[in-house]
Parts: sequence; structure tokens; C-alpha cells
Amino acid sequence: MTGASGSSRQASTRPKALGVDVDAETRCAHWRSPLDIVAIRMRCCGDFYACKDCHDDLAGHAIRVWPRAEWSERAILCGACGEQLTIEAYIGGDHRCPGCGAPFNPGCRHHHHLYFEAVAQTAPK
Ligand SMILES: [Zn+2]
Ligand SMILES: [Zn+2]
Ligand SMILES: [Zn+2]
Repeated sequence: MTGASGSSRQASTRPKALGVDVDAETRCAHWRSPLDIVAIRMRCCGDFYACKDCHDDLAGHAIRVWPRAEWSERAILCGACGEQLTIEAYIGGDHRCPGCGAPFNPGCRHHHHLYFEAVAQTAPK
């Protein structure tokens, strides 16, 4: 009796982050602080990259930012736990991963416009 039972591949479907010298938590040659654990799926090619400089170096085409209307896409990868956040959750969040609580680099907000359509500034009142 040869029962070729189906292979149940329940392994986590964590996407691979591309980039230059990417480590296990998606740090890259450009951003290596303990907080730099976020990878971003690029609108142009659909691949996760550690940062836009990695994309510049490797992709061979111009980056395209995510339009506002598509911020419900899960385009943010937490390098610590593999959780995929929506852009909305990432930008509107508290600079930490809702999955594992790992802190993200709050300085990244200064680069959001490179990845996402101009972020509306919420002026503190
Ligand atoms: Zn691309
Ligand atoms: Zn990089
Ligand atoms: Zn996480």
C-alpha cells in the first residue's frame, strides 16, 4: 500500500526581504540599528525590501510609492516576528509591532514619503 499522503506545508508564509546584507530581522547595509527591523513591500514590483536604497541598488527600476487608496495592503513586514501590517496600521501606529511588541525606528517617519504617498501631517494641537 503506497499512500502518498499530501504534504501539509503549514510553515509560516513569511516573505523573504531582499536587500544588501539583509540579516534575519531585515536590517540591511544602510540601516542597522536595533530598531531597523521593518521591511516594506514595494508598490512597483511587489517584493519586500529592507529599505529603498536596497531597492535602488538591486531592483534596476524606479520605486513607486503606495497611493493613499491602497494603504490597506499588508505591505509592512516586522522582521522580528514576521507579522505583516497594513500601511495604515504602520503609519497610524505607535512605532511598535502589534504582533510581538518590538519597537520600530520612529525616525523612519521622516522617510515615509519615499515609500508612501505624502503622509498627511497631523499637526499637534
Ligand atoms: Zn521595485
Ligand atoms: Zn538598505
Ligand atoms: Zn513583530
